[in-house]
Amino acid sequence: MKRIAFLLALALATSLSQGQQSTTPQHGALPSSSSTYATTRVEGTDNVYIFRNVAHQAMFVVTPEGVIATDPVAYGRPNGGQLFLDEIRKVTNQPVKYVIYSHHHFDHIAGGQVFKDAGAIFVAHRRAKERLELIKDPHTVLPDEVVPDTGRVITLGGTRLELTYHGLNHSDSTLVMRLPKERIIFVVDTIPVGTLPGRGMIDFYPLETEDFLRQVLSMEWDRLIPGHPGVPGGRLGTKKDVQDQLELLQAASAEMKKLGQEGKCWDQAEKEFRMPGYANWPGYPNNLQFIARRFCGLWGRGT
Ligand SMILES: [Zn+2]
Ligand SMILES: [Zn+2]
Repeated sequence: MKRIAFLLALALATSLSQGQQSTTPQHGALPSSSSTYATTRVEGTDNVYIFRNVAHQAMFVVTPEGVIATDPVAYGRPNGGQLFLDEIRKVTNQPVKYVIYSHHHFDHIAGGQVFKDAGAIFVAHRRAKERLELIKDPHTVLPDEVVPDTGRVITLGGTRLELTYHGLNHSDSTLVMRLPKERIIFVVDTIPVGTLPGRGMIDFYPLETEDFLRQVLSMEWDRLIPGHPGVPGGRLGTKKDVQDQLELLQAASAEMKKLGQEGKCWDQAEKEFRMPGYANWPGYPNNLQFIARRFCGLWGRGT
């Protein structure tokens, strides 16, 4: 996912630097320049922002009593956390009160030390904390507080942010963050917007994800901020994107189920695996292998 999203961002940056007009609808997340990072306010809101660093995105919300930030998105970028904080400082002088992790993967949550030093409280799902305590990544701040499976609500300066857990999906620690007033959700990696899933399939739970997606579809929201810029044009997601991912996963599963149950996993099945209906989707040639491998694990091994 990271590589594909990066390539997409690169293509986007290239097309912008060549002065080409995007023909795609713009939903407020498109960077206004070809810079490697950008901060944009989400259209139609007073205080909801997206910080993009190359091909990773975080949401932050500014309130009169402080800022709620999310993933520091600074894996492999020693100054990435500081950059994020500097970008927030361009918008407000309010202190960052919370940093909330979307899930436990370092490419999204590394780099939070500057926020910790400034006094922010780190919040994550309980499984994220368990995992982070085990691995002790030197660049990733441990959560101070955990969200139980029953969820938690953060209220700050008139903003209500609901953190809910919907079971296994792209990870076992993913929180759905919902702003009920703005009807916006922030969900990272489980719901690629306009692309095939890729490397993110590695610790993915295929069957459980279908249920996760149905739960997200049943929630009240209009726009989805993804953890990687939506395609095309850095757009935000809609319920149609969630439905599309659900159908994509079901198609992949059905295709590999045949091959797996014919005894063809791994090599033969992975060679034969195709998703013809998705051949023109961004990410198809590079990401198909990751989808095939994961569903071979399911239907060829029971994993
Ligand atoms: Zn992830
Ligand atoms: Zn990701």
